[in-house]
Amino acid sequence: MLQINPVYEPQVCQGPGSESLATEWVAFRRCADMDPNVFFPNDGAGVIVAQKVCALCPVADACREYALANNITHGVWGGTSERQRRRILRDRRRASKAARAA
Ligand code: SF4
Repeated sequence: MLQINPVYEPQVCQGPGSESLATEWVAFRRCADMDPNVFFPNDGAGVIVAQKVCALCPVADACREYALANNITHGVWGGTSERQRRRILRDRRRASKAARAA
């Protein structure tokens, strides 16, 4: 599993094949010059601080989808907390299962 941290390691995004396409958004991230610890908070108040940054990020959707696609469990990505991403994935699995059953 490719894991990048949009704050720490944008250079890692130049991976082979489709991975490089999937991570082009990193070049436009709002958090480029920010303290990475902001996005790995220890409490709910910290999550809200990070989410406020992500709310104005032009690539938040891509960032969130990247985290979801790569099962990144830690940190705030695309404005979503760890719990929110678990919920999104659960809801998508349920929707997919329901669609197959229909
Ligand atoms: S959505 Fe948040 S974590 Fe993702 S690139 Fe933008 S500012 Fe950084």
